[in-house]
Amino acid sequence: MSRTKVAIIGAGPAGLLLGQLLHTYGIDNIILERQTPDYVLGRIRAGLLEEGTVTLLGEVGAADRAHREGLIHHGVELAFGGVRHRIDMTAATGKTVMIYGQTEVTFDLMTARSAAGLATVYQAADVKPLDFDTDRPRVSYVKDGVGHEIACDFIVGCDGFHGVSRASVKPSAIRTFERIYPFGWLGILSETPPVSPELIYTNHERGFSLCTMRSTHRSRYYVQCSLDDRIDQWSDDRFWDELKRRLDEKTADNLVTGPSIEKSIAPLRSFVAEPMRFGRMFLAGDAAHIVPPTGAKGLNLAASDAHYLSLALREFYDEKSSAGIDGYSEKALCRVWKAVRFSWWMTAMLHRFPDNEGFGARLQLAELDYLVSSKAAIASLSENYVGLPY
Ligand SMILES: Cc1cc2nc3c(=O)[nH]c(=O)nc-3n(C[C@H](O)[C@H](O)[C@H](O)COP(=O)(O)OP(=O)(O)OC[C@H]3O[C@@H](n4cnc5c(N)ncnc54)[C@H](O)[C@@H]3O)c2cc1C
Repeated sequence: MSRTKVAIIGAGPAGLLLGQLLHTYGIDNIILERQTPDYVLGRIRAGLLEEGTVTLLGEVGAADRAHREGLIHHGVELAFGGVRHRIDMTAATGKTVMIYGQTEVTFDLMTARSAAGLATVYQAADVKPLDFDTDRPRVSYVKDGVGHEIACDFIVGCDGFHGVSRASVKPSAIRTFERIYPFGWLGILSETPPVSPELIYTNHERGFSLCTMRSTHRSRYYVQCSLDDRIDQWSDDRFWDELKRRLDEKTADNLVTGPSIEKSIAPLRSFVAEPMRFGRMFLAGDAAHIVPPTGAKGLNLAASDAHYLSLALREFYDEKSSAGIDGYSEKALCRVWKAVRFSWWMTAMLHRFPDNEGFGARLQLAELDYLVSSKAAIASLSENYVGLPY
């Protein structure tokens, strides 16, 4: 049996950032990850970072490349009725967001972790958080067919929505809140220049679309699709045709198409588990909550959870105070629910719902029209989009 202060399950953004923050506070930790590093790096997911997330990456020495290669955005565009409207977020808030892919964030955090010589066990099978309702929690796992155990002070479940940590909590100790949306996002990644320097969110009668990017030469596009759709029904040509039909004429004309280098369908879901602490086990990131990607909040919430929890654990070790860990769940959930609300609101305003053909569609257009013409509404959208303060 080995020993550490904090055993972290999952080497996604939440686990890797938490591990680095704890390390900078002198708190030793081990990360257990089910997959290989290449598999983790191969998952194409989020791509928009709030300033607070970039600051946290800087605190752990993992933001140099993001500052060099990330694209700073000062606004977004909302398109409806065939017209694009720019929202100047920097004018409204003084803040910006950064385009920098989750794969790059993960790579930079992995590099920082291995440079610091910190332990990460990849391909750890059958990971089990144990005895977290006692003062002596443990985590067991199997590596190369051999069973291991880690004794620790705390366990943190950073193992995503389908992870083992939340599933190990007895049902009577946890409450969940969920909304499943009646559509998904079909996404394509292509080695083509973005159609526009900033993101374009489009409300269209054929369904929502989003033009985003990962760099000046790599684009990411999404179209709302049916939950019954399968990826093999969507050739690249069909995807580009559908996207063009949802864009205004000028944008469609400017769109540079090319072969997809990744294509996937993601269902949209809002989910929150309460609380985020169970004795000596905490949850952070997607293990505790999921938001639809419309608000670009999933990765950023994983970062704010890691921030709150690392400060709470520092207080526990440095000041011998449990106040931080006792307040973690409430503090994190307060920010989580605001991001859940914002992501739900963006989703509701921009997508085609089965029951909003008439009245609902008109309300969406009225809301969008109000939004782009009201200083107060622009300020509200902007301050949520760039990220609420920690
Ligand atoms: C298809 C998809 C597209 C997305 N697009 C966007 C987007 O455009 N914008 C946005 O903001 N967010 C997006 N998200 C959400 C964002 O990617 C997540 O919020 C973010 O990855 C959360 O980080 P995390 O570390 O909490 O969880 P994850 O990134 O899920 O990491 C969890 C880690 O735990 C590991 N793990 C799981 N089970 C175990 C186990 N039993 N034992 C050990 N390890 C385990 C997993 O392998 C994984 O590496 C998307 C998510 C998905 C799934």
